[in-house]
Amino acid sequence: MAERNPRYDILFEPVPIGPVTAPNRFYQTPHATGMGYAKPKASAALRGIKAEGGWGVVCTEYCSIHPSSEDSPYAFVSLWDEDDVRALSVTTDAIHAHGSLAGVELWHGGMHVMNKLMREPALAPSESSSYFVQPQHVRAMDRADIAEFRQWQIDAARRAVRAGFDIVYVYAGHGYLPFQFLSPLTNHRTDEYGGSLQNRVRLLREMIEDTLDTVGGRCAVAVRLGVDEMHGAGGITSEGEGREIVEMLAELPDLWDVNLAGDLGYDSRSSRFSPEGYQEDYISFVKSVTSKPVVSVGRFTSPDTMVSQIKRGVQDFIGAARPSIADPFLPRKISEGREDEIRECIGCNICRASNNEGVPLRCTQNPTMGEEWRRGWHPEIIVPKSSDAKVLVVGAGPAGLEASLALGRRGYQVMLAEAGRELGGRLVHEAALPGLGNWMRVRDHRVHMLDKLSPVEIFRESELGADDVFEVGPDHVVLATGSTWRRDAAGTLNPQGSALAPELGALTPDDLFAGAAVGQTVVIYDDEHYFMGGALAERLAMAGHTVTLATPHTLVSAWTEMTNEQVYIQHKLIDLGVEFRFSQALASASPAGFAWRCTYSGHETQSEAATLVLVTGRTPRLTLLNALEARKEEWAGAGVKSVTRIGDCLVPSTIADAVHRGHKYARELEVSPSNRIVRRERPSPELQAEVI
Ligand code: ADP
Ligand code: SF4
Repeated sequence: MAERNPRYDILFEPVPIGPVTAPNRFYQTPHATGMGYAKPKASAALRGIKAEGGWGVVCTEYCSIHPSSEDSPYAFVSLWDEDDVRALSVTTDAIHAHGSLAGVELWHGGMHVMNKLMREPALAPSESSSYFVQPQHVRAMDRADIAEFRQWQIDAARRAVRAGFDIVYVYAGHGYLPFQFLSPLTNHRTDEYGGSLQNRVRLLREMIEDTLDTVGGRCAVAVRLGVDEMHGAGGITSEGEGREIVEMLAELPDLWDVNLAGDLGYDSRSSRFSPEGYQEDYISFVKSVTSKPVVSVGRFTSPDTMVSQIKRGVQDFIGAARPSIADPFLPRKISEGREDEIRECIGCNICRASNNEGVPLRCTQNPTMGEEWRRGWHPEIIVPKSSDAKVLVVGAGPAGLEASLALGRRGYQVMLAEAGRELGGRLVHEAALPGLGNWMRVRDHRVHMLDKLSPVEIFRESELGADDVFEVGPDHVVLATGSTWRRDAAGTLNPQGSALAPELGALTPDDLFAGAAVGQTVVIYDDEHYFMGGALAERLAMAGHTVTLATPHTLVSAWTEMTNEQVYIQHKLIDLGVEFRFSQALASASPAGFAWRCTYSGHETQSEAATLVLVTGRTPRLTLLNALEARKEEWAGAGVKSVTRIGDCLVPSTIADAVHRGHKYARELEVSPSNRIVRRERPSPELQAEVI
């Protein structure tokens, strides 16, 4: 095994945090898993893997302190009662098993919850409408409510100690209740908890003191503070009151965990809209104001950048949520001199999407994320092959690369054939779109790792037909041949497509990537609603074209609300002068003009003809499958036992799904269905009693 580069030794120094000591500087900051209190085993397995991978501190996601703060239908953990203590003990045990510290992010959402499960009114410093588009208001807390709230934090902190946590949070970040008291935008009180900054800080100070008293030196008390709410001078800013708050409370907590506050979207911006370490400008003052350890985040994946963070005194830890999701073994890899093997986060925010969709965590780069307990997948361990079978993988996009890598790790002899000269499939073009360069890490990591695996051979510029397959004569054929964009305009909201005159020569993204000529005036018709329509509009507008983005939806790139990118995309396109045509399905298009149908009223309107780019749906590329199916009687003679589709060739979807399906194929090859684990946690009294 390679030795650790001494340059990185500093990352492995222990760091005291109040009464406890972190074994190294790798700090998995709190992040949602989409599992929550209902999935204690899955959560524990996920956090345990992080600890095993070398994260010296591993925190939970937001942990509700009281039923007046619940985020249903989204998944959160809770410390409301002894059942919760027992359930979270499974997580602390899993973290402690690897010598790491367990942190719990005690949370009250205040006006940032809807309480749809418990039907409690949302609490806030001041009376106002809901933070969400909801026909309900939030209730101003009186002094008795504040006293009760302080007691809830105390009770939850006591339970946290019983559950075995080493670090207990006071959470004044991401716009939640204690932050709502800090911000003049949400706190309009006239009593001792409102008005001057001194008064607005009062509750946070009391909470820190209460929590320190409660844990009594048995654990550290961390404060998570949003130092800038990104609303300009009227709110908390890092140059203004954000700094003053830290100055006022500097030495009180045992650790400062600082970031951007407004909402989660600011803190975990995608790589399309922010580079690695982009919060540094906002948080770097904190260490100059306090002697206590400081942690922040920045999508750090490069050990040199991490060392620089420490040496330049930006923070004492390497705080990470997404990098620890993409590679739970990031610290171990650096420690073992394998930093080249780090599976770097690409900043796509598919992980955010899982939480926003209310399902367990998933990750584009790491197909085992969220599957640790459910399917028993370990990111670093894979069952060895069970025969000497040869596998031919056709297509080197995300699915084919991942399948080849995982099969190679199992020891199978793999031949990977790719029609093009470049590996990467869809990534070759998609990662070249504005802001998406980091996406190429999906390819680069896998190609790098494949280079190290002797049983995998890669053949470029090898477009395979059925004859080629039979000539190779593999035991198993894996078709990862991808998909092509539809030409009939059939999409999500207008599945019947449009009447398109062939002489118009409507283009698809495939045509643009192949270099098709585009007129000065372009209409992009987006009935797919992920990144492609918006990204092409951005590229063409930047190149000087006059661009209209038309969609049957009411928003640009609507699904990117899930990846917390939608507002940034629409904002960018507005700045670039892109025109929008919302709620319009394309009825017909010809060189004489385009006809649009309102998705609400059905009323038709006309527009002038332009270059039309159809971003609607995709169809699997099945030429090779059909050729093989047509000659099924030849399979046995050639030794072919199975032909299986994976990735977009099975069903067009996200890159994350393609990688997952490639990985799943490799995990399950020659494993009998009865040995494939798929578990769900079920709420039942017996299970609750056992939990483990
Ligand atoms: P996925 O996302 O499922 O991995 P991609 O579209 O990214 O799919 O990649 C599919 C890859 O398969 C492309 O690089 C394409 O060139 C390649 N391919 C398609 N048909 C063949 C074939 N017959 N032989 C070899 N490679 C192929
Ligand atoms: Fe990073 Fe994307 Fe994985 Fe999230 S889903 S951790 S952003 S690679």
